[in-house]
This record gives sequence, C-alpha cells and structure tokens, in this order.
Amino acid sequence: MVDSRQGEIRMLIDGALVEATSGRRFDNVNPATEKVLGQVADADAEDMRRAIAAARRAFDTTDWATNHPLRKRCLAELQAALEGEREELRAELVAEAGTPVQLTAHAQLDAPLADALNWPAAMIDEFGWERELPVGELMGIRSRRAAWKEPVGVVGAIVPWNYPVEVTLNKIGQILATGNTVVLKPAPDTPWNATRLGRLVAEHTSIPAGVVNVVTSSDHLVGEELTLDPRVDMISFTGSTATGQRIMQRGAATLKRVFLELGGKSAMVVLDDTDLASVLPFAAFGVCLHAGQGCALLTRALLPRARYDEGVEILRQSMAAIPYGDPTDPTVVQGPQISARQRDRILGYIDKGKQEGATIALGGGRPAHLPHGFFVEPTLFTDVDNTMTIAQDEIFGPVLCVLAHDGDDDAVRIANDSRYGLSGGVYSASEERATAVARRIRTGSIGINGGLWYGADSPYGGYKNSGIGRQNGLEGFEQYLETKAVGWPTA
Ligand code: NAD
Repeated sequence: MVDSRQGEIRMLIDGALVEATSGRRFDNVNPATEKVLGQVADADAEDMRRAIAAARRAFDTTDWATNHPLRKRCLAELQAALEGEREELRAELVAEAGTPVQLTAHAQLDAPLADALNWPAAMIDEFGWERELPVGELMGIRSRRAAWKEPVGVVGAIVPWNYPVEVTLNKIGQILATGNTVVLKPAPDTPWNATRLGRLVAEHTSIPAGVVNVVTSSDHLVGEELTLDPRVDMISFTGSTATGQRIMQRGAATLKRVFLELGGKSAMVVLDDTDLASVLPFAAFGVCLHAGQGCALLTRALLPRARYDEGVEILRQSMAAIPYGDPTDPTVVQGPQISARQRDRILGYIDKGKQEGATIALGGGRPAHLPHGFFVEPTLFTDVDNTMTIAQDEIFGPVLCVLAHDGDDDAVRIANDSRYGLSGGVYSASEERATAVARRIRTGSIGINGGLWYGADSPYGGYKNSGIGRQNGLEGFEQYLETKAVGWPTA
C-alpha cells in the first residue's frame, strides 16, 4: 500500500489546474499514523468566486445543458480515466480517509466505480426529458401542451470525509448527466481524491472548461460562498445536520434549491423470534465498519427484553473479536477516526453515556496498543434508555447502544423516537412480520433480515432531520432538473 505519495496539489478552475491565488497550501494528514501525507491548495473566497463564475459561464454559454451525446461521451471518458487510476485511488483513499482497504472493494470505491457514473449516463438515453400533455383549452385558446425537463444550472456539491469517493461520484454522475455544471468542494480532511478527479477531468476528458470545478480549502467558510452566491442555483450537500441547517439558512436569501443528506441514528429492530446467534454478529460488525463513520449504520440495537442478556453477550463477544487497527491490513474492518477532534468528540459522548447511567460492556477508551493514530476501542453500551444523549445523538464512532423493547409496537415506538430518520433494519424469523414492522418505521431506507437497498439506481436519503431529497435513483436524478410547462396554439 502506498502511503506517502504526494497527491494532486492543484485545483480545477475553468479548465485549468491551478494553485490557490495566495499560493497557500494545507496539510493532508493520515489519520492512522498522524503523519502529514503532503499538501493541497488552500483556496480563499476569491478562488471560490472564480470557480463559480466559470461554472456559470459554462452553463450559460456552452451547449452542455442540451448536448446529450457530448455528456454521454464525457461521462464515459471520465469513467475510463477513473478506472485507469483505480489502484492509486484505492491507496490514496486508505491513506487520507483511514478507511480499511477491505472496504474499498465495496461502498468506498469499487461499488461507486461500477455504477455512480454509468447509471446516470445510461439515463441520458432512457429518461423522459419531454412529455406530452392532453390538448387544453382556456379563454377560447386551444393549446397543445408539454412538460420539459431542463437542468437546474450551477450546482455546488459539498462533500464529507467519511465516504468521499462514493459521495462525490454519486453526485457528479447525476449532476453532469442532467446537464448541470458544478463546483465540487471536498472536506478538508480528504482533498486528494477530489483533486485527482479534477486532474482526470482536465487531462482525460472532453468536458468543456468550467463544467467541472474542484476547490479545496482548509476553511469551511470558503464552501459557504456556494450557499451565498446568487450565481449558484442549487446545493447538493452530504454532511452533518448542523451544517445542513446552516446551508438552508444561508441559501434562503437566494432561494437555493437544496438537497441535503444528513446524519442518522438508525435502529436495528430484533423481534423475539429471531435467531440471535446468526444475526447479532452482523450488528457488531456493522457498527465498527470504518470506525462507525457511516451515516446509515445501525447504532441502536433494540432487543426483546426477555432475551436482552443473551443478546448482549453475543454482541460483546462479537465486538471483542472485531479486527481493528492499521487500515492497510486486509483483515481490518475498523480503522482510525478521521481526526483528533472527531476522536475526542466520541470519547466525550462515551463519558456522557456513563454519566447518564448507561453501562460499558466493552471498550470505552483509546486502545493502549495503538499509540499513534486517532483510534477508539469498539464500544458497547448496555442499560441504555432511549432518552439518553447516546441514544439520541449521532456519535459517528464505533459505539453500539443496546436497548430493550417489549414487543413489536414498543420496538416501532422506540425506533421512531428519534429526530433522525435515515435508515434501519428489522429482523424476524417471519419475513412477513419483519416487513410489517419495516412499513411502520419512519426512515428513508430499511433492510429486512439483512437485505441491502444500496445502489446508484436506489433513492437514498432521510426523513425528518436526516435530510431533504434523495441521492441516486430516479428521484435523485430529477432533483437536478427544473420543469418547464410549454403551450402551442392548435386547431
Ligand atoms: P460536516 O457537516 O462538518 O462537513 C461536510 C462538508 O461541509 C465538508 O466539506 C465541510 O467543509 C463543509 N462545510 C462545513 N461547514 C460549512 C458551511 N457553513 N457551508 C458550506 N459548507 C460547509 O460533516 P462531516 O463531519 O464532514 O461529515 C460527517 C457527517 O456527515 C455525519 O453527520 C454523517 O452522518 C453525515 N453523512 C451523511 C450521509 C448521508 O448520506 N446522509 C453520508 C455521509 C455522511
């Protein structure tokens, strides 16, 4: 595994690979070693405004918005370019995001490389861009009528650090396929996958200058320019609920379209007829994947009260066996947290859980055998009440809360007693019973008996404070489009 190679420093603005105007750069740190990997351009607000101007000009003055064959060709070229550097991307992602290399075979890299660009590219031919309406008559004028779908315009794509390639490709694929132009703003913790994408766009595709721009900055407020600037039509954001709320507030002045993928506190509902020994090891594994830094992870396990102790013991043994540590080790499923700040935030939540009366059944601190890197032990909390902070807040770490329920109705009540509504899981020996419970859970996605809903064709997003809109699927595709109603006089 390559760990020390300098990634792409330059941003992509108006078709050119450029450093920040100020010449400033910031460090990209490997969270598993705490060592500086290298640098990347540190844009200021003026750089961001140049990128926005380029995206605006490209949208308003080129035929990108209407040229379907060009868009298809460009997406195919970008796909080929990404595949050509797949292994470099993989090593870089492990180094900058601290993701276990094992996960790059799935949602971190290979899964989005398979469909995030290809699915929306195929939709360019398949989608119904225009639909005829019946002839109408108003004030004596008979009219032939239609509805046309057109791109929204300039999209600001703001991306988090936890699944950076996955989120970026699923945004870029739909944004470009629908004919928009984009300014991509990666998280400061994981900039290189985005600057690599910018370089590939510049060097290996026919994408016109200004259609894709990539701006990196150590300052979150540079990203905020996207939400304030009237030349940006829409924000496509994935990140925390607090930032999503701020984006809505800031964007209100210019009535930005907002698509927000936010946090979660999802429940795994285990009904009383479930074979715990076969199901619960997946719960332990799932909550530790990528150190719990996944928005859709099932971080509240709801066990039948009569089988609580039996279930906790299976969970404790399973979590104790989770291989964690060096993310370049192919057996590891849990690497480091992304930063010291995130690690300390998680440790703060663990303290809060103890103060509020929950019991630590496993872990709860920093692992003694990993002196470098931002690691947290796999941590299991029992005696959790759903009113506790650890049951209500998104911890974003390898922390599982186990709660007891008194039957299907009670489990549904607890699962829904959350300000979040992102995902969930239901388990039962009866698929029919599990499906009936799943219908009552207020979340944007749900797995039944371990089934997975994921894919570029599957609309993914949240109810309640987990977001507005959907990433992927037809619903996601249409979000990047405006609708124009058209009438012609007819006999
Ligand atoms: P974050 O909200 O701190 O940052 C996300 C992005 O927003 C970064 O690029 C950051 O630079 C930018 N940003 C921060 N403040 C901004 C502002 N005022 N204006 C514009 N941009 C701003 O989130 P994070 O810590 O990077 O990511 C973790 C969060 O993301 C978790 O809450 C997680 O649940 C959520 N997430 C959600 C999904 C989903 O699909 N629902 C997927 C992945 C992550």
